[in-house]
Amino acid sequence: GSVLEIKNLHVTIEGNEILKGVNLTIKGGEFHAIMGPNGTGKSTLASAIMGHPKFEITEGSIHLDGEDVLEMEVDERARAGLFLGMQYPSEISGVTTSDFLRSSINARREEGDEISLMKFIKEMDKTLDFLEIDKNMAQRYLNEGFSGGEKKRNEILQLMMMKPEIAILDEIDSGLDIDALKIVSKGINKMREDNFGCLIITHYQRLLNYITPDYVHVMMQGRVVKSGGPELAQRLEAEGYEWIKAELGIED
Ligand code: ADP
Ligand code: MG
Ligand code: MG
Repeated sequence: GSVLEIKNLHVTIEGNEILKGVNLTIKGGEFHAIMGPNGTGKSTLASAIMGHPKFEITEGSIHLDGEDVLEMEVDERARAGLFLGMQYPSEISGVTTSDFLRSSINARREEGDEISLMKFIKEMDKTLDFLEIDKNMAQRYLNEGFSGGEKKRNEILQLMMMKPEIAILDEIDSGLDIDALKIVSKGINKMREDNFGCLIITHYQRLLNYITPDYVHVMMQGRVVKSGGPELAQRLEAEGYEWIKAELGIED
């Protein structure tokens, strides 16, 4: 399986240091969750891993299977097997979900080894069924006019079709009703295998009732301040974050 290794990552946005030394290793087969109060840098971590130009990395490293991710262009990161599901996915006018998926899959394959149209359609139909997505959605422009829930389901469709090595899912649960949450979770759980590692970023413990992470990390003030198992998420749900601040002597 693959390994994503983040070491001592410092990230600055417009001159403000947001991440102050993040260490995290995600291996194939492992599900990690990052929780933490609003504004602590969770989305910044996701954006930095995927190479958003606004985020300046001032110190530290990110490696995927020993390859320097920070040296890769954004599209190279996707080709190397990284997947980012964003908190606010953008609309892509003029490109249908189906076209987008097919070209994304083929971008990760060698020239001459592109997925056949028949095989692609078969796999897409199967996955649309599994995620209870209307077949017409695949022919609509990506995210254009999609509801919040449809965007999130569409991201899980992308995830299942692209089969990345490592996925970072930022607030994939936000704005979902309980039925959509169950379907999204079902999709992520279906991905569980030795060659797939996942980092689930969430503000709420709710999602983790459906997806059991192997590791839970708490991020505060730009650092991972505590790590544990699923029981850590349950304690956060019950008691909030104050006890961690007290334990670690963190001031607001
Ligand atoms: P979280 O996802 O944990 O809620 P974020 O990573 O979104 O936190 O934000 C961390 C901090 O970085 C916040 O103080 C936020 O205001 C700031 N920030 C995030 N994105 C930007 C941006 N594009 N420009 C300026 N500041 C930003
Ligand atoms: Mg966020
Ligand atoms: Mg490096």
